[in-house]
Parts: sequence; C-alpha cells; structure tokens
Amino acid sequence: MSCYREEPKKAHFIIVPLPVQGHLIPMTDMGYLLAERGICVSLVITRANADRIRPIIERAKESNISFEFVELSFPNEMFGLPPGCESLDHITDTGLFRAFFDAIYSLDEPLETFIDSLERPPDCMITDMFNAWTAPVARKFGIPRVIFHGPSCFYISTEYNLAHHKVYDRVINENEYVTVPDFPIELQVTKAQTPGFLNSPIFEDHFRKKCLQEELRADGVVINTFLELERPFIENYERLIGKKVWTVGPFCLYNTDDEMKVVRGNKDAIDQKNRVLTWLDRRDAASVLYISFGSTVYTNTQQLMEIGRGLEASNKAFIWVMKKIEITPVVEKWLDEGFEERTKERGLIIVGWAPQVVILSHPAVGGFMTHCGWNSLLEAISTGVPMITWPRIADQFVNENFVVDVLRIGISLGVTVPNYGTEDVIMVKSEEIRKAVDVLMDGIEADEKRQRSKDISEKAKKAVEEGGSSDVDLADFIHYFTEQRNKLASGDGIGA
Ligand code: UDP
Repeated sequence: MSCYREEPKKAHFIIVPLPVQGHLIPMTDMGYLLAERGICVSLVITRANADRIRPIIERAKESNISFEFVELSFPNEMFGLPPGCESLDHITDTGLFRAFFDAIYSLDEPLETFIDSLERPPDCMITDMFNAWTAPVARKFGIPRVIFHGPSCFYISTEYNLAHHKVYDRVINENEYVTVPDFPIELQVTKAQTPGFLNSPIFEDHFRKKCLQEELRADGVVINTFLELERPFIENYERLIGKKVWTVGPFCLYNTDDEMKVVRGNKDAIDQKNRVLTWLDRRDAASVLYISFGSTVYTNTQQLMEIGRGLEASNKAFIWVMKKIEITPVVEKWLDEGFEERTKERGLIIVGWAPQVVILSHPAVGGFMTHCGWNSLLEAISTGVPMITWPRIADQFVNENFVVDVLRIGISLGVTVPNYGTEDVIMVKSEEIRKAVDVLMDGIEADEKRQRSKDISEKAKKAVEEGGSSDVDLADFIHYFTEQRNKLASGDGIGA
C-alpha cells in the first residue's frame, strides 16, 4: 500500500515520463530522489517499459520509501504498432513515429482513471515536455504541472534565442552558419543542426505546437543540470520563459547503489556487469576508451566497420557498445573473421545494453566516444571523463559545442550535418577516428582535458551534496509544491 493512501497528510507527486530511455532514466532517478526526501511518488509507465526496469520497481516495493509505478497498458494494436513497441528506441521504421505519438497521446483517459481512483488529486505533476497531453488532465483535477526538460539549458536557450529573434526567417541555406543572437557566448549553428525546439521529423507539427503552448502554461520547469555547470544559460532560459527553473542534477550522482546503477534503463545490463568489471579491473588507470551512441541513433554497417578500423589503428584499449540491430550479416562476418580476434587483448564488445554509468565510473576508463545525448554528457561530466564528440541529431550538435568549446573537455570528430544513422554513408573516416583517439587518450592535451574534467566532476559532486546548489534547489522545489497544497486547501490557489 502506498503512503499517500495510508498517510493522507503526506505530499504526493505524480511523474509522467516520455517512454524512451534518455527521458525515462532521469525521471526515474528523480522519482527515487523525491521519494527519499519523503514525498509519495507515482511514476506512470507502460508495461513493456516497466518490464525493462523490473528490478528497480521491485526494489522500490521492498524499500521503506514510497515510490510506486503505475503500469498502463499501451494501445499498440489500436494504433497499428507491433506488440511490445512502447519506447522510441523500439521503432526502426520511421513511418511508425506518428502512430507512436498518437498512442502516447491517447493515454490521457487511463491517467484520468488513475487520478480519479485517488482520495485526493496529487500535489504536483512532473511531466515530460513532450507530454502535452497531460496538461488538460492536470487542469481538470487542479494539479500544478511542472515540465521536465530532457536537454541542457545551453541547448534550450539556443533554440529559444533563435526562435525569439526569428533568425531562420533570413536563412536560405540550412547548412549556413548563423550566430545565435543575444546569447551569453558567441555561438554559431546551422538551421539543420537546430531546426527549432521539437522540430524533428519524428514529431508532427500539431504535437509540437501543443507542447510549446503547454510549456508556457506550466507552473515551472525542472532540469537535469546544475548551476555551476551552466549558470548563464539557465538564467537566459529562465528570463525568456518567465518562470522558475529548478536545476537539481546530475541525477546519476544521487544514485549510489551499484545494483540500481546497473539496471538503469534496461535490466539486460545485469548480464554484462561482472564481465565488464572483471575486464576493467585488469586495466591501467585512464587507459580505456568507452564507445556508445546512446539508445536511439544507429551506426550503419559501413560506418561501424570504419570505426573498427580506426580503433585498430589507434592501438588503445576499448569497450564498444553495439546495438543488436547494427549486427547485420556483414558486421557479424567482419567481427567473426578477424576484428574480434585481432583486438581480443584490448577490446571488449557489448552487444545490447551496457551498464554505462558503472563503466564511466571505473578508474580504468579515460575517454568516451559519444553521440552527445545530454544524459551521456552529464554522466561523463559527473565521472570526470573527457570525450570524443560525434553528434547525430536533435540537441546533440549544440551539446557538442558546449563540451568542446565551453567546457573544453572534448575533441570533435568534425561532423556538421545531422544523420540519424539509417543512411548508408560514412560520416567519419577511420583515420579521423584514430587521430581523435590518440589525442584524447595520450599526451599533454589529454592530460589537460582529463584534469579539467576532474575539476568539473568535483563541482558536480558538490552540487548534489547537502547544501550544494542542486540539493538546495530540490528542497526549494519540494517546499514550493507542498506549500501549494496548503495554500490550495486554504483557498488561495496558485498562479495561472
Ligand atoms: N545507456 C545505457 N546503456 C547503453 C546505452 C545507453 O545505460 O547501452 C543510458 C545512458 O547512460 C543514458 C541514456 O541511456 O543515461 C541515453 O540518454 P542520452 O541522453 O545520452 O541519449 P539518447 O539515448 O536519448 O539519445
């Protein structure tokens, strides 16, 4: 039995993530965090996504915190989606994106039914920015609604400043560089790299408009970042949006339980844990390069083998995560007929889901080749690991800029044009990969970047410690929404 039913005086927050790992992982972390601070938390999830993180759900049940998972069934059949296709990374046919979001947007009724079943409505709804469908539900029950933004404030600010100054009205060539106006630093981007917030082929325009409208109506914003990392950009966004932005991350640093770290996002990583740790324990400090491109973008067959040639030429130790779908018959043959044998002394391949935070936290890991997803960057920042950056889509180009030019802890592979990974083109040659790996892993530049990364990771750790900026903001966030309940009860109401 959950404590909001047993202890009606306790505050109850409901969390509604977007079903894709880059959003589900930080919002689950946030749920834990709030529950550990005495809030009763209900996280709304669909069954197939719940199955992926079953150990986390079971652990929450056994613990003395109040963190429950509300499992909704996903209307796959009704929207023509294959069974089990409940997360963005399950979609390999881009033609299904529309149906996927239609299915998500139909979850308003089951959510209403859940809230109706409670004795009183929750005190706060924390909902992904993509989930505009939750806004009418929150309004119906008078629940204050906070937006969770997946990306960095650096990226959000970039998009807002470009939109605010209507920069793209003057742009003819989408690969032409323009300066972001009124921005805290000099930043140049192309329209192709930053086509507008949520302006992506996977997201239909009417969804996009709803999300932007509902962001403006929200009661605040919560972001997985920390003040010392991006203060000017947080302030810029807060000024533009005109509402409170709570920065309470990095979430991965609050998660100190090794078993829970392993199963973040997908329990399949349990199978890899011992193999990976035994392998890493035998390596020298900072000698291993970790290569992973997150949960949603792909690497095509030719490019994948080109990466392999670059790694071979670099002669450095590596852990390389490949997605199951990337193991085409050609790749399988290439791995079996030589690559694995030639690199077996210094290379470890993981096919499927890797325990990423566990790997990045290991002292043997000295570099990370990444697609620049914000969670991956924050995890590398938190563990003090410098990066080789290879953005593909969405916020990743701007994130690269932040890591390479602002924080100066990354080396760019020089990719400037978005590519989701499905097109069979080689974006980066093996020689470029070899050079970047050599520079990141050895020499004076490597030492400087590593030291800078360690310094930033110290700031991240301080932010989440008692009295640190994120800890204080989290306490403020909780206070704000638990106070709201009292105000509502006394008839004062809250801001529109
Ligand atoms: N991740 C993981 N194991 C993997 C791949 C990804 O644990 O094999 C996690 C990673 O640690 C991060 C999230 O999945 O927390 C990916 O989010 P990110 O924002 O980096 O990229 P996205 O997948 O959204 O493109």
